[in-house]
Amino acid sequence: MRRTLIKHVLVSDAIGEPVKVAGWVRTRRDSKGGFSFVELNDGSSFSGLQVIVPGELENYESEVLNVTIGSAVAIEGQLVESPGKGQRVEVHATKVTVFGLADPDDYPLQKKRISFEKLRDIAHLRPRTNTFGAVARVRNALAYATHKFYQERDFLYVHAPMITSSDAEGAGEMFRVTTLDPAAPPRLDGAVDYAQDFFGKPTFLTVSGQLSAETYASAMDRVYTFGPTFRAENSNTRRHLAEFWMIEPEVAFADLSDNADLAEEYIRYMFQFVLEQCPEDLAFFDKWVQEGLLDRLNALATSEFRRITYGEAIQALEQADTSFEFPVHWGADLQSEHERYLTEVVFAQPVIVVDYPKDIKAFYMRRNDDGKTVAAMDVLLPGVGEIVGGSQREERHDVLLESIREKGLPEEEYWWYLDLRRFGTVPHAGFGLGFGRMVQFTTGMQNIRDVIPFPRTPNSADF
Ligand code: ATP
Ligand code: MN
Repeated sequence: MRRTLIKHVLVSDAIGEPVKVAGWVRTRRDSKGGFSFVELNDGSSFSGLQVIVPGELENYESEVLNVTIGSAVAIEGQLVESPGKGQRVEVHATKVTVFGLADPDDYPLQKKRISFEKLRDIAHLRPRTNTFGAVARVRNALAYATHKFYQERDFLYVHAPMITSSDAEGAGEMFRVTTLDPAAPPRLDGAVDYAQDFFGKPTFLTVSGQLSAETYASAMDRVYTFGPTFRAENSNTRRHLAEFWMIEPEVAFADLSDNADLAEEYIRYMFQFVLEQCPEDLAFFDKWVQEGLLDRLNALATSEFRRITYGEAIQALEQADTSFEFPVHWGADLQSEHERYLTEVVFAQPVIVVDYPKDIKAFYMRRNDDGKTVAAMDVLLPGVGEIVGGSQREERHDVLLESIREKGLPEEEYWWYLDLRRFGTVPHAGFGLGFGRMVQFTTGMQNIRDVIPFPRTPNSADF
């Protein structure tokens, strides 16, 4: 008999029909009448399926009564209407196959609540908890929404390389990729001789797919990447990972305002999609993780974002009657505390800050006519702060070259990037959205380590 996923069984109308399900036991209660209630979850939905196992089954005493939380079983039976509260249907078992027991003395996920922090030490088991199952489904829905959004708008999905020799903007924050023996690397005049390394030069894990995306946007008009990126920044915060996924759209014949429109539309689309696809998971987060989450997501799914310039942001922060850890003045980068103050207190809505000072932004951002700022934009969300960083790119060859020189970057490394400005250059713009932060925001989970299956952070790359 074919197996049905529990999420389909729960909404099935095939009352009286045979059904087969399989999953992991969440609870087993034995009734005095000589039968048992088993709640089964297979990850397909937040709710599990209630199964009634009659004592007459031949393996009832020998096997079913050994089944405890975490055991893996398959059940065949009949779908019936449930008299119980909170469920439409249940299954009356005619056959129980026990695949694997989970010794209650050892199995760590017993009924009591375990802190998210402790669950990180058993990351191989945590998807079996309510919270991490829900996070996994929301994360999946957001990934699906991402592809759907861009594909519906004729964006081409491109795969940026993960190994790179160009240090886009990640000076000092990159993981080196090498096959040289760390104990005895070949040397030339004292320094490590990377000419003898695998690629014949120093290589790193990418911090961003943007530069590759730009080359494809310069031929295919509108593209996006969606892949892992790596940053060796030693920031032990609740919103940074050493390995995180980023979505980077890049659009030809577009300016900063088009870019902000796209980011806004994309973020709203994700909210709408996940509200539609994961109502049960979001209701759980609303109840147990962050009160008011659903109201906020619903409001954001239709609300406009506030757009301000960096100069206006600084002004608002200077007038704030709160003291910041990092001082505020024109020219200073906005810290997380500033970003959150703007979006949570000053405007109480998502904020897009544009036109940052050129000295605190990357070389590829387009110079504004004022000579001081660049056409950069950051999207700020309450709770997480920066979710998107982007810009209109500098498409003027000579201005770009000047910028590369001014920042002291190795000009010869960017010959191909400059080439894009020599042959058929166009105004273009794009951004990077941190996928983990989006999942964080959507679920209300406090720590980004709890919204990715296996977080990589300083001193932690287990599992
Ligand atoms: P932040 O200032 O928050 O560290 P950033 O300015 O260094 O971020 P960008 O280079 O603009 O980040 O990257 C684009 C997006 O990727 C950010 O807006 C953020 O959502 C996400 N992001 C950046 N660094 C990390 C990280 N270490 N872990 C998770 N997400 C990240
Ligand atoms: Mn940024």
